Amino acid sequence: MDKEVLSQKYDLFLKGAETVPGEKREVNSENKYIIRQSERESNARSYPRRLPIAIKEAKGVYIKDTDNNVYIDCLAGAGSLALGHNHPVVQEAIIRTVNSDLPLLTLDITTPIKEEFVDEIFSCLPADFAKDAKIQFCSPSGSDAIEAAIKLVKIATGRKGMMAFHGGYHGMTNGALSMMGNLGPKNNITGLMSDVHFLPYSYAYRCPMKACEIKCNLTCGNYIENVLTDPESGIVKPAGMLMEVVQGEGGVIPADEEWVRQVRRITQEQDIPLIIDEVQSGLARTGKIFAFEHSGITPDVLVLSKAIGGTLPLAVVIYNKKLDKWGPGSHAGTFRGNQLAMAAGIATIKYIKENNLLDHVTKVGNRLRKHLENVMSSSNFIGDVRGKGLMLGVEIINKQDNNKPYGELARMIQRECFLRGLIIEVGGRYSGVVRFLPPLIITEEQIDQVAQIFSEAVKAAEGKIA
Ligand code: PMP
Repeated sequence: MDKEVLSQKYDLFLKGAETVPGEKREVNSENKYIIRQSERESNARSYPRRLPIAIKEAKGVYIKDTDNNVYIDCLAGAGSLALGHNHPVVQEAIIRTVNSDLPLLTLDITTPIKEEFVDEIFSCLPADFAKDAKIQFCSPSGSDAIEAAIKLVKIATGRKGMMAFHGGYHGMTNGALSMMGNLGPKNNITGLMSDVHFLPYSYAYRCPMKACEIKCNLTCGNYIENVLTDPESGIVKPAGMLMEVVQGEGGVIPADEEWVRQVRRITQEQDIPLIIDEVQSGLARTGKIFAFEHSGITPDVLVLSKAIGGTLPLAVVIYNKKLDKWGPGSHAGTFRGNQLAMAAGIATIKYIKENNLLDHVTKVGNRLRKHLENVMSSSNFIGDVRGKGLMLGVEIINKQDNNKPYGELARMIQRECFLRGLIIEVGGRYSGVVRFLPPLIITEEQIDQVAQIFSEAVKAAEGKIA
């Protein structure tokens, strides 16, 4: 579908709206859906607390609530919606598959759609990785694919321990949670996977080694090398090392590319499988198909979910065949054969390739970053703007308190954005980082609008604490 037709669709969507992005609205405390949700849903619910909204329609970057307010969605299913909501090519693929009478669930039995999905996803991999790659379909969440990756390397190496990074996020199941940096969800849980060692991550703005200023100078990489080579380090060789190349939930922290290469060299020399978690950063989000490509490395294991299902649940682990030592049924699961998700995923990957979305992401990502830097230059509370492509973060700090993360203000900014029709997320230490994860098809015009609303929201929130 060409741009003109799409924009007509958006205009139709905006028609009849009570408020459109940029206009201020109030939270409707009488909204029956929100009231019912808080009465009936678990205390563990998360997003609705900060985004009190009941959604009735969504198209592209827009969502409309049940009171007819329209929002720009820069959360986009926590980075899952590469092509935005209800993209025509995704809708068409889903409808075509439903009408084909193919069973919609096939366990891990193959089908022509699955065959095509594997072709497409393998075609996205760097050639040296693709040529020896194997794929495991998982139960459809990033967390489950992480569990699979942990088992894979443990079985392949016969070793017990794992290594992960400060600030890392890999999901909420037992193994994945064990490898998470954020202590909040772990504090009260007993029986987490033992034998996980956490390493400092390349985060120059708040260098864990207190050794960097603006750029990572690899001190933490040197420390990692020492841990793995010193016979007195106290840490036995792990089965694998799990890493995000751009930490997402941890506060949008792109690791220094040289550091990523350093970690790859060390793990290679030490024969430790390197598992790259691209659940959030994968499939064009950072301006490359995979974020690890920015540093030119090749992982041993790649974990993918979110965008690869073209909006629907799908998760896979792709790995070098030398690790394929686990036996049949080592990571079984009922819902590993979601044909609709594979069809939607194929359509998404094809659209990304055919429409040169990588260049688009780089271009509009740079545009948003420049806008955010402008906002930073006129704010007393923004310490850093960072990220890659359309995975961007703004670190909110308290200059009167040693530049500490200012989570309270970040949440106020999030709320002021929400009240002006812009949905964004917060993350990082003390929730001090405002995060932007818009659909990759967002236009320059929409980017400008996002930045305008954000700028107003920052001023409004700062005004409230002044
Ligand atoms: N890894 C990363 C990098 C993630 O961002 C997430 C989810 N935000 C996960 C794993 C877990 O995925 P899921 O929520 O689908 O279990």
